[in-house]
Amino acid sequence: MDTSNELLEQLCEAGASFYARGYAFGSTGNLSARIGDRVRITPTGRSLRSLAPAGLACIDLDGKSYNEHQPSKEYPFHLAFYRQRADVNAIVHLHAPHSVALACLDDLPDDPGAAEPLPALTPYYFMRVAPLAVLPYFRPGSPQLAEAIEQAAPDHNCLLLRNHGTVCAGVNLNAAVDAAEELEATAQLYFRLRGERVRYLTDAQIEELRRVFKTK
Ligand code: ZN
Repeated sequence: MDTSNELLEQLCEAGASFYARGYAFGSTGNLSARIGDRVRITPTGRSLRSLAPAGLACIDLDGKSYNEHQPSKEYPFHLAFYRQRADVNAIVHLHAPHSVALACLDDLPDDPGAAEPLPALTPYYFMRVAPLAVLPYFRPGSPQLAEAIEQAAPDHNCLLLRNHGTVCAGVNLNAAVDAAEELEATAQLYFRLRGERVRYLTDAQIEELRRVFKTK
């Protein structure tokens, strides 16, 4: 099996795993991987439950199609991310329940340049997710959403789309999947701890994580 096919198998397996764990449901969620100057992306209107490499759509960075499969309707923001970030090779977009609940809270800042929107609960959030940008609501699949993501992409690997879901990018598929899982786990912790007295990481502890793991 060549390397690219192995990667596409892993992408399909990641989709099925998200579906099995309730991170994706119905035909929501989409994943993509960049291989050379092509992007392989999950097809529109299909569940992530049972995809095969041969069923993935193939497009270039301008959105031109190279096989018979229609890409996810949310492909414009995948391409926007890849265009901005030469170091990004995989993207995971999910409507995972705790992350979407977080994206519906009224008191999160709607400014991608604002301070970290979530409290400092665990080191893993800083190693895999932060800095998290919260983007205003735009219709799924709209050019405005792709534009907002293109603007946030240079400074963030992970985005929370208001009233919609998450976008997590990585240097490879594993990194994008890890970030998506960490973000959903953090959102879950955030809701579990609401109303509790919490001991947060200190500024010095966060600074140490940023220095050692060289996060953004
Ligand atoms: Zn979506």
